[in-house]
Amino acid sequence: MRNSPVYFTVGPTQVFPTYRKHILTALDTDIPSVSHRGDAFHVIFRNTRDALRDLLDIPRNYNIFFLSSATEAMERIIQNCVRKNSFHFVNGAFSKLFQTTSTLYGKQAHSLEVASGLGFTRDHIRVPAGAELVCITQNETSTGVCLDSSFVEEIRNRNRNVLIAVDVVSATPAVKLNLASTDCVFFSVQKGFGMPAGLAVLIVSPRAYEKALALEKKGLVVGSYHRFANLDSYAQKSEAPETPNVLAIYILGKIAEDLKRTGMKTIRTQSAEKAKILYSFFDSGSLFTVSVQDKKLRSPTTVVVEVAGGSERIVDRLTKEGFIVGKGYKDQKKTHMRIANFPAHTIADVKKLISTLRNFSS
Ligand SMILES: *Cc1c(COP(=O)(O)O)cnc(C)c1O
Repeated sequence: MRNSPVYFTVGPTQVFPTYRKHILTALDTDIPSVSHRGDAFHVIFRNTRDALRDLLDIPRNYNIFFLSSATEAMERIIQNCVRKNSFHFVNGAFSKLFQTTSTLYGKQAHSLEVASGLGFTRDHIRVPAGAELVCITQNETSTGVCLDSSFVEEIRNRNRNVLIAVDVVSATPAVKLNLASTDCVFFSVQKGFGMPAGLAVLIVSPRAYEKALALEKKGLVVGSYHRFANLDSYAQKSEAPETPNVLAIYILGKIAEDLKRTGMKTIRTQSAEKAKILYSFFDSGSLFTVSVQDKKLRSPTTVVVEVAGGSERIVDRLTKEGFIVGKGYKDQKKTHMRIANFPAHTIADVKKLISTLRNFSS
């Protein structure tokens, strides 16, 4: 086997250590060729759904749907849960994308927007009257800000009637979230689950599902093949409306089982341990500055640093040493560097990355 580099990019990222084993098993058992309307697939569908429910503590009465991307999930949520007004906590490119999606559907997409590198606290929890859906990005992958799970719970406690959607793409499974306080939660698999892109999971509460039915009944267009009602009628048969990514659904179930075996507690402890190693290094020298100043808002899964004199040189040197790290997001491309810390990243690799960086700065 070739001497592969380690991908510390924020997504796609390093594949999960067991990914190779699962893909070989999938090939040996003809999974890429099985019918998406047959029993073999029904078993795969149920297995993955149950493994996710178990791993992420998804309430029994919440639906689990498979979509193609997190971006698609944003669109489906707006279509199915908003008649007129959505409200968005915007602190970076992905929360902005959610808001833009709503605007493009002709909704009134109100927002509370803060500058890059900032987050939201209890003081910000004022949802305007008339909002039907509140949209939150738990971990802003563009800036490295992560909101505490208690922020979402507090919104729920203060606004019992509003639906809550949470983008957990780069947060899950390492960052905690009480799903019972949410209505729509979604992620794609190329970040925390260490898989290739092309599959996303949308978790829907009974209230959000009922809202979709009510909008449809009123004659509103809530989508076609991926409207909630259609997704549900197929899910009840352990199927998807279209020909889904059967291979990815299979592997996601296997990786969810692997993570469950490791245990959520261990995953979170390891995540915190690796984050501590990364942040204490970047806080110590003069070459790097962590871009999120408030330590409570610093993401454990997405470490964003500013590099004195520009990040390109460091990113290139790391590549030569076998570490692929992320550039900054858009405007920060040449100044920032982004390093992912997902369950696929081992403590040993994080330590190697840091000792390589230490050599650069000395
Ligand atoms: C990557 C990312 C997305 C977009 O995911 P796709 O699967 O490319 O649609 C959305 N939100 C966040 C927070 C992300 O990090």
